[in-house]
Amino acid sequence: MKLMVVGSGGREHALAWKLAQSPRIQTVYVAPGNGGTARDPRLSNVELPELAEGFTPAALAALADFAEAEKVAFTLVGPEAPLAAGIVNVFRARGLRVFGPTSEAAQLESSKDFAKAFMKRHGIPTAEYETFTDADAAHRYIDAKGAPIVVKADGLAAGKGVVVATSVDEAHEAVDMMLGDNKLGQAGARVVIEEFLAGEEASFIVMVDGKHVLPLATSQDHKRLLDGDTGPNTGGMGAYSPAPVVTPQLHARVMREIILPTVRGMEADGIRFTGFLYAGLMIDANGNPRTLEFNCRMGDPETQPIMARLKGDFAKVVELAIDGRLDTVELSWDRRTALGVVLAARGYPENPAKGDLIAGIPDETDASVTFHGGTTLRDGKLTSTGGRVLCVVGLSDSVRGAQATVYDTINQISFEGMQYRRDIGYRALNRKH
Ligand code: ATP
Repeated sequence: MKLMVVGSGGREHALAWKLAQSPRIQTVYVAPGNGGTARDPRLSNVELPELAEGFTPAALAALADFAEAEKVAFTLVGPEAPLAAGIVNVFRARGLRVFGPTSEAAQLESSKDFAKAFMKRHGIPTAEYETFTDADAAHRYIDAKGAPIVVKADGLAAGKGVVVATSVDEAHEAVDMMLGDNKLGQAGARVVIEEFLAGEEASFIVMVDGKHVLPLATSQDHKRLLDGDTGPNTGGMGAYSPAPVVTPQLHARVMREIILPTVRGMEADGIRFTGFLYAGLMIDANGNPRTLEFNCRMGDPETQPIMARLKGDFAKVVELAIDGRLDTVELSWDRRTALGVVLAARGYPENPAKGDLIAGIPDETDASVTFHGGTTLRDGKLTSTGGRVLCVVGLSDSVRGAQATVYDTINQISFEGMQYRRDIGYRALNRKH
C-alpha cells in the first residue's frame, strides 16, 4: 500500500515516519517533503513544479493527479494552507481517500471571527470578544476595555497575526498595522479583539471522523523564542507529551465542555468536521479551561513527541477514521515522556538564514529520533532551508531524563548559528517538585 503526506515540515516528517512503520506500507510519498524525508528509504519526496507557487488550484489538481496515478491508498494533510484552500474538497470530488477537514470546516482555523462566533453560539468557553472592520470603532473598544488586551487578525497570518498587548498604546498600534496600514493584507482586513486570559497553555488534539472523537496524547508547546517564555512568538520551539497540566479530570472536562460541543455544533451547523481538531487551551489558576483558538490540523512541534509515543499501526487508525469507524479504535501510548526541542536557523523568526551545512545527526535509537523541518538534501549534502530546521525528540521515564537525552543528542549536531531553548519541559518539572 502506498500513502501520501502533504507538507514539508517536522510535523510531516513525524507523520510519514510513523505511517511507514505500519506493516503493509510499501512507501509513503511526502509532497514536497524535506531533507529528512528524502534520506529515509521508506519515504519518497514528490517534486511537483505546481507546488512551487504554494497550494494553488493547479497544485491541488496536480497532487490529486499524482495520488490517482500512483494509486495512493490515502492522503494525510499536514499544514493548514492546503486545507483552507480546499484540498479535501478536491480529493473527495475525485473519489480519492483523504483525511482532513473540508475548506468549510477548516474555517474553525482560517477565520478567527468564524471560530469565535461559533463558540459563542454553542456555549464553548472562550475569551470575550468583538470583531471589527472599522479602525475607529476598534480604537474606541480598546479605550473602553483597557489593557492587557489581545488583537488578532481574522485570517491565516503564519503566527504574525496575534498581538498580546500589555498596554493600550500597543493595542492601538496593532489595530493601525492590521486595519490601517493593511500590513497583513486580506488576513488583517477584519480583526478580533479579545479579553486577555492568564494561565498555562496546553494543546488538546483529537481525531474526528465526522461523528466519533478519538483523543491523542496530551502535549504542551513552547511558543516563545527564548528560555523562560521570553522573546518573540514563533511557530513553536519545543513540545513534550504527556502534559501533566491536563489531569484526567481536566481531560474529561475539556472533552465534555469543548471538544464534543464543537464536533456536535459543526454537525448542527451543517458542516461535518473530519480530520485532526486541535484546541489551544488556556487553563486558569483554578483549573478552568478556555479555548484560545482552534487549529484544524496537528501542531508543529507537538506532532513530533506525540508520534514518537504512539504505538501500533497508525495507517490503520487513519483508514478507520476515513471510514467513520473511530469508535472501534483504541490507541496505545509509550508510557515514557517524549520531549522535542527545535533547532532553529540563525535569524529565526524575523530573518532566518538558509544554506548552512548540517552535520552530526546521530542515527535513531529507541530513546531518540531527529525529525527534519527546514532541510534539503542535494548531492548527499544536508543544508538548512530556514525556519525551524530540526526537532530532536528524546524519550525517557522522566521529563528530566528525556531532557538529558535530547540535549546529549543536540551536542552532537551542528550548523552555523543554530539556536534552541535549554528549558523545554520546565513547567512539567516545576509541577512535579
Ligand atoms: P498558532 O501559530 O498557534 O496557530 P495563531 O496565530 O492562530 O497561532 P493564537 O493561537 O490565537 O494565534 O494566539 C497565539 C498565542 O497568543 C497563543 O498561543 C497565546 O500564547 C497568545 N494568546 C492568544 N489569545 C490570547 C488571550 N486571549 N489571552 C492571552 N494570550 C493569548
